[in-house]
Amino acid sequence: MDGAERNALGRTDAAPFAAGFLRTAGQLLGVGEQDIVPDENRRKNTLIFTTIGTLALLGFGLVNVGYSEPARLHLMGLVQILEVCFLLAPAVWLTNRGTRPVWAENMLVFAGFVIFASNVVFGGQSGDSPYWTFVYPYLVFFLRGQKVGWAVGLLFSISVPVLMYYSSSHWHFWTYDPLHCVYYGVSYFFNVLTAAYFNLLRSMFQKQLWSQVEFNTGEVRRHLATLQFNSTHDLPTRLPNRQGFIDALATALTAHHKEGGYLLVVCIRFFRVSELASMVGLDTVDASMALLAGRLRQQLPGVRVLGRPSHDKLALVLWCERADEAALAPVREIRHMRHALDPGEFSIHVEYTFGVAVQACGEAAWAGELVRKAEQALLFADDNDLASQLYDSALSAHFVARNHRYEKLREALFSEQLTLHYQPQLDLRSGRVVGAEALARWFDPEEGPIAPDRFIPIIESTGLLHRFSVWTIALAVRDCAAWQAQLPGATVSINLSAESLHDAEVLHSLEQALARWQLDPALVVIELTESVLLKTPADALAHMERLVELGARLSIDDYGAGFSSLTYLKQLPAHEMKIDMSFVRNLRSSPQDQAIVKSSIELGHDLHFKVLAEGIEDAAALQLLTDAGCDLGQGWYFSKALPVADFVAWALNRQANAPTVKESL
Ligand code: C2E
Ligand code: CA
Ligand code: CA
Repeated sequence: MDGAERNALGRTDAAPFAAGFLRTAGQLLGVGEQDIVPDENRRKNTLIFTTIGTLALLGFGLVNVGYSEPARLHLMGLVQILEVCFLLAPAVWLTNRGTRPVWAENMLVFAGFVIFASNVVFGGQSGDSPYWTFVYPYLVFFLRGQKVGWAVGLLFSISVPVLMYYSSSHWHFWTYDPLHCVYYGVSYFFNVLTAAYFNLLRSMFQKQLWSQVEFNTGEVRRHLATLQFNSTHDLPTRLPNRQGFIDALATALTAHHKEGGYLLVVCIRFFRVSELASMVGLDTVDASMALLAGRLRQQLPGVRVLGRPSHDKLALVLWCERADEAALAPVREIRHMRHALDPGEFSIHVEYTFGVAVQACGEAAWAGELVRKAEQALLFADDNDLASQLYDSALSAHFVARNHRYEKLREALFSEQLTLHYQPQLDLRSGRVVGAEALARWFDPEEGPIAPDRFIPIIESTGLLHRFSVWTIALAVRDCAAWQAQLPGATVSINLSAESLHDAEVLHSLEQALARWQLDPALVVIELTESVLLKTPADALAHMERLVELGARLSIDDYGAGFSSLTYLKQLPAHEMKIDMSFVRNLRSSPQDQAIVKSSIELGHDLHFKVLAEGIEDAAALQLLTDAGCDLGQGWYFSKALPVADFVAWALNRQANAPTVKESL
């Protein structure tokens, strides 16, 4: 290391050293000193010192009072007991009072001063009193910090030696060597310095500790607040989520408890949200929902709480004076807000359904239960294509019964309690049986036979559909293959729910069943209603094409009962059109139905479909259909759906007698 370097290092080291020294000296003297110890802790510290002081001094006092000789000790004992009573006892009293702890501290500092000074005057047992006084500066610094510590400490280190000197020459309780008084003064000063430094270190450590604790506690509080917010809010819209909504509803229930009127809990589900999200992204949909929520808050003055329980739902708490239809009018008005909801390239068309639970304000209610009721009403509205539904106890009963039925149905499906019955389909010109429609039957041991209209919707709305469709296909294909020996060429028509058309495994199961039972695919007719085209028509058409490629044939079920879009009708790769029985059953008496049926038959033929009329219940209907050129027919006039063996027997009997339709009229 050369000289220049040393100089440079020397210079750079000296400045911080000097600054550090000055800073420490300042701190030692109490510059910028702050009180960070909470009052409660200060009070506790004072109490500990006063208690120790009281016990020690009382002990010494009682012992000393016991001495009769020398009289000095007896007197010292008396003074000590008086000091306990008049100095330490008030300090204890002040500590326990609600006043600021500084009064108790000051009292203790003062008490210490007097006690130690008086002891020095009496000299203790044998001139040992001055040794005890070395404790005092530590006590003062600890209790009152640097500034007061120095002031009192210096006063003590000057006044006590002076007192020693004075009392030695005037009062003669104990005589100190004058030179020793000076030594005591000097050593008291160093004792004060040590106490000051010690207390500085202690308070710095404590300060660091406190600030660390404070920082950590603050951080934890902030994290907790964030966690709490996140767990009760939908983050994109910052609206309360389901749990947040329930909490806010509970608060609203309490706030309105004394008020009259009603709180309406409204749960609104907007349609197509998932579909829109898949096209324009979740962010855009979230922004629309936030916009919608903002508009609702503006336009519905009765709104007390607004939340987003799930991505496609909003929930409201509305206050109203009377729980009648008028109270719900604002919710129905949402429909007209559509123009306000165009965040950019697409618009939410406000299509929704909602469920409502009503709560009278004065009555006891549980928020979670109210939300559950509103959600149940919404579910019911959703399932039944209603615009809205009000909750009542019958709804709960309905869902309980439905759930019970679901459980039983599941059991029935897994233990093969379901069967297929077959309803014959006839060629109306020749009268021959050309096939049969497979219709599911469920005989429940408790309830007896349950109509498909009651159990198919449960199957369709739960996770049972896949299994059910695979089962139907497997059984129907097996039965059809079996009856080929007796009824060669007789087809089987299988009803397929719309959702199943999109289930690749269901289509694959058809392929497997055909291969397994060696059945000509052309003998399988898949009946689909127009509802398959409601959602993603392009996909539905593609799946239908796949069925046709397999060699199966397609039939449009319930023709006329749906929306019957002619645009789609001409695109469908179907070979058959089934006119819905609602037009057929009353054919004889309804000229309108006759007109519809006739034109449907013509349209079907023009589009190269075979036309089948279902629901033929009487000869007159059959006659009219035959006259109109209908190709095929099915209905109770011929036969109800029968177990497979009965169907085969019925068909064989019919073939043997082979009546033409004309003959059967
Ligand atoms: P659908 O496909 O329109 O079936 C025809 C329904 O009309 C059957 O009722 C049948 O028994 C009944 N029917 C037949 N001829 C007459 C008649 O002359 N007059 C009257 N009034 N009714 C007649 P079912 O068996 O109760 O089935 C009801 C619906 O349940 C079916 O309507 C179909 O949509 C569904 N379904 C039945 N079985 C299945 C199945 O295996 N799978 C699927 N996905 N749905 C099925
Ligand atoms: Ca059908
Ligand atoms: Ca039908």
